[in-house]
Amino acid sequence: MSGARTILPADYHTHTRLCKHAAGEPLDYVRAARRRGLPGIAVTDHGPTPLEYDGRHRMEMDEFPDYLRGVETARQEDPSVLLGIEADYFEGCESFMEGWLAAHPFDLVLGSIHYLEPPPREKNELRHLWDFGAIRAAWKRYFELVGRMADSGLYDVVAHLDMLKRNGSRPLDSDLRDWALPALDRIARAGMAIEVNSSGLRHAVREVYPSPQLLRWAREREIPIVFGSDAHEPEQVGFKFDLAAQQARECGYTQALLFKRRIGSPVSIDGSTPTGRPLASSGSRI
Ligand code: ZN
Ligand code: FE
Ligand code: FE
Ligand code: ZN
Repeated sequence: MSGARTILPADYHTHTRLCKHAAGEPLDYVRAARRRGLPGIAVTDHGPTPLEYDGRHRMEMDEFPDYLRGVETARQEDPSVLLGIEADYFEGCESFMEGWLAAHPFDLVLGSIHYLEPPPREKNELRHLWDFGAIRAAWKRYFELVGRMADSGLYDVVAHLDMLKRNGSRPLDSDLRDWALPALDRIARAGMAIEVNSSGLRHAVREVYPSPQLLRWAREREIPIVFGSDAHEPEQVGFKFDLAAQQARECGYTQALLFKRRIGSPVSIDGSTPTGRPLASSGSRI
């Protein structure tokens, strides 16, 4: 991390050992956030899904109470820790998600699309999203799913918007315009935010999710942002947030949202007011 006076945003995307491909307890991530001087952190591990949907990369349904206990333990040290979840969107998930998300006191629900296919009923052998990055039809399908996720009204924030590019395959500008703009319009209409996710800087693409072009289009539509490192180990908390915040500012953003009980309120990310203090209590989901 660079200069001590750099204004860093809260980290709203972190995992735990429960998802089977990350390390550490919520408390480890919370302590890492404090060491970095971040103004806040949300624990957002991969939530359980029915139909054994991608069970290899998420907590089991009967592990969810362990997750809640882990966040509670972290809160004993820092009461500001947000209880979040990274919830998948896939075709047919709506009735489960609606009931399950409403049944728990989440502060923040990230909506993520990790797969293009609907869930198989048996053991899943789903291909990761980013394995399709060079295929035009995959980008089209992906942004259609993003639009449906927005229309569902079930999620607060679209996570890692253009993660198909993870392996370095980017879409044509004209395709992005044709497919991403309608998705962004639906995100705006739903009152959702999007995540500026710095994990792309660790991946082959070496670029924040979403790209500057997408972020500018989001800004034009007044879609709010949050920041996430997608940390899968405590050392990754706040990963390159100075660069991510700089990119957001270059795309015209001066504010990010702070969440509590699924309500977002804007805070400055450009140093004009102290980070962590709401500029206005909007009381709305924007
Ligand atoms: Zn993960
Ligand atoms: Fe994800
Ligand atoms: Fe994640
Ligand atoms: Zn993720």
